[in-house]
Amino acid sequence: MNVKQLILLFILDAVLAFYGGLWSASAFASSSVTLTTEELAFIQAHPIITLGTGDAWEPYVIVGDDGQISGYDFDIISKIQNLTGLEFRLLPGDWRLRQDQAQRREIDGLSTGAIHPERHVYLNFSDPYIRLNKFVLVTKGNPLNIRSRADLDGRTIAIHRGNLSDEKVAQGFPRSHIMLLDSVDAVIEAVSTGQADATFDNGAMLYRANRIGSPYLQFALSINESLDLVFGVRNDWPEAISIINKGLRAITETERQRIQARWFLAPLTNSEAANYQPLSLSTEESDFLNRIDPIRLCLDPNWMPFESLTLDAHPQGIFIDFVAILMQRLGSNTQLIYTANWNESLATIRAGRCDMILGAAITPERSEYLNFTRPLLSEPLVVTIRTDNTFNGDLHHYSDQTFMMVSGHAAIELLRRQYPAMRIIEASDIATALRAVAAGNAFGYIDLMPTIAWTAQHENILNIKIAGNLSERYDLAIGVRKELPLLLSSLSKAVVSLRPEEIKTVHDRWTSVRYEQTVDYRWLWPYFSGGILLLLTMLFWNHRLTRFNEALRNANARIVLLTITDELTGLFNRRYFHEIMPREWRRALREQRPLHLLLIDIDYFKLYNDGYGHPAGDVVLQRVGALLREHTRRGGDFAFRVGGEEFAVLLTEINHSNALKFAEELRIATEQLAIPHTGNAVAPVITLSLGLLCVPANAFDHANAIPLSWESVYHRADDLLYQAKNEGRNRVIVGDWQPPALETSI
Ligand code: GH3
Ligand code: MG
Ligand code: MG
Repeated sequence: MNVKQLILLFILDAVLAFYGGLWSASAFASSSVTLTTEELAFIQAHPIITLGTGDAWEPYVIVGDDGQISGYDFDIISKIQNLTGLEFRLLPGDWRLRQDQAQRREIDGLSTGAIHPERHVYLNFSDPYIRLNKFVLVTKGNPLNIRSRADLDGRTIAIHRGNLSDEKVAQGFPRSHIMLLDSVDAVIEAVSTGQADATFDNGAMLYRANRIGSPYLQFALSINESLDLVFGVRNDWPEAISIINKGLRAITETERQRIQARWFLAPLTNSEAANYQPLSLSTEESDFLNRIDPIRLCLDPNWMPFESLTLDAHPQGIFIDFVAILMQRLGSNTQLIYTANWNESLATIRAGRCDMILGAAITPERSEYLNFTRPLLSEPLVVTIRTDNTFNGDLHHYSDQTFMMVSGHAAIELLRRQYPAMRIIEASDIATALRAVAAGNAFGYIDLMPTIAWTAQHENILNIKIAGNLSERYDLAIGVRKELPLLLSSLSKAVVSLRPEEIKTVHDRWTSVRYEQTVDYRWLWPYFSGGILLLLTMLFWNHRLTRFNEALRNANARIVLLTITDELTGLFNRRYFHEIMPREWRRALREQRPLHLLLIDIDYFKLYNDGYGHPAGDVVLQRVGALLREHTRRGGDFAFRVGGEEFAVLLTEINHSNALKFAEELRIATEQLAIPHTGNAVAPVITLSLGLLCVPANAFDHANAIPLSWESVYHRADDLLYQAKNEGRNRVIVGDWQPPALETSI
């Protein structure tokens, strides 16, 4: 934009202001920069400002093979240029040479530099345009195991001569040998080959190393130094700095984040910095992304764990998490286009009413109107049948049988081609299809394993098993409307930037055991042997199943955990209490062991809800739940949420005095949570009442003679809790097992 246009814009802006409100501010975002007459005159007198910069400081400044300059600094400078009308040129080259030139005023200033007193002599500095964290890079594999500053004592640190900020950081390592090298590439080579042990970086070095095909460096530790990059302009041109600062301030936060996301995956901190691979979008791509923000998104509203809409219409699932990462990286936003089902989603994108569609399998039919990114997931197709049926793994043998599939499923196309004689009935949703199989109305259901496991678990369909997988794998990608090649290419770059660990983390979040940390697996065995669960026995019909079985076991374990876990607190639920309590009671009888049952109730909790609201009440339940979890880490301890604000702890492996100590500690720990509760008549904070029933080992001689139900044990503990309430709350009442005679008379 030249000065004339700028002035025109000011005039236009004034006219528009007159019609106040008719125009959105964002349409004329640049009008937020108002320049003084001196500044406007400066722009007229200095058509181009030349800023020197280093030639290996990617991704701040990247020199393409064709000499084109791009990078973070370039984007920021272009923005300032657009906003203010002051034009810039970046001149990459040897950094020390550029500094000398700036000092001699052969060029107008510097980019990609920090504020140093040495430079103040000839430059004025702008506000910072990015803050970087410094970290230590070492040879890949970290052979010297450098984890702290002290580990660098006696080691050699290579730095780029003339990088003032690194030279200063190096002064903080007086016991290390500092090796000064003449270029960034020389530093990379020295550390990659072990001539030097470490170097300092803020991201640029790692980026450069990967770009020159030398990915032999890795992150070792961050050092608590940050570095602000600023623009410096010769100090007899103060107007330039005031214009730059106005431009910087006018860059919106979204715009800044977009630029940042384009060149850096995340803030350059810690281990992420070790692997990062910045996206580099072409100008066309980023312009395009700017234009189609938000990107319209279609998905399957009912396809967990991949994607779905919750009851309150929030998208959730594996692909939703992927999209969140991808959009952050592209600096874009999405707008969800609601559809009733997958077929409608396909029709919607086909009609051009959305731009991308999630979790689509790549099929020839879809390729007519969609382009696909690289697949994000690849899952085997599996066959689910009734528990009492068998399946030999070859669909050709089952052409007289009926298979259910979900309408619109890409595998229908695939299977019809492969097995022309196969009978497929389409159902509107997975649960309906699985129920048909469970009821014996159809022989099998074909879909991806995670989907089946998810649905069976959430819909409580128990009478089915996964009989085996087909050799077909099913690649899931993001489909993009054919008319949007620039969206496809940007999205593909973002997909490629996803690291395998990132994909795995997202996948595991939705498909494997969720409560790993809090559950002791030894107590799961009765579930696996008790036969109450689906998917229990599998036919190992093919050696290729190994990988799949692993996933299936995870799914099984997860199903078990979800059915026995209280959602709010993560403790075991009441249902599981009814499983465990009789089992442990029988075991105690048989092995003549002591048993302790602690019943817990929060004091005046109704008043807490009344005073602080139900959601706050839920938080209290979660905090008390977390406390219980922390205190029941040993193998023989179980903590349950047995009712609204009632909990039970079963202690099977500890002696009497430790059980007493346990209960009292729990009471005190709760008090010490110091959750204010003004409605509590006995303390100003949330407190517990506890009833502890101790059944000593020797009590079972009697018990054996007269078989007692575990329920009577429970009732007795409940009486103790009631007594704790009556006697003033916030206390533990301990009771022994009653003599059997009394017990039977109840
Ligand atoms: P006391 O000291 O005698 O136990 O008094 P109390 O108010 O705690 O006892 P009461 O049994 O009358 O009230 C229990 C309250 O717990 C009732 C209900 O508001 C609350 N509650 C039950 N389940 C939940 C839940 O899931 N979330 C929340 N926030 N509150 C719950
Ligand atoms: Mg209660
Ligand atoms: Mg209560």
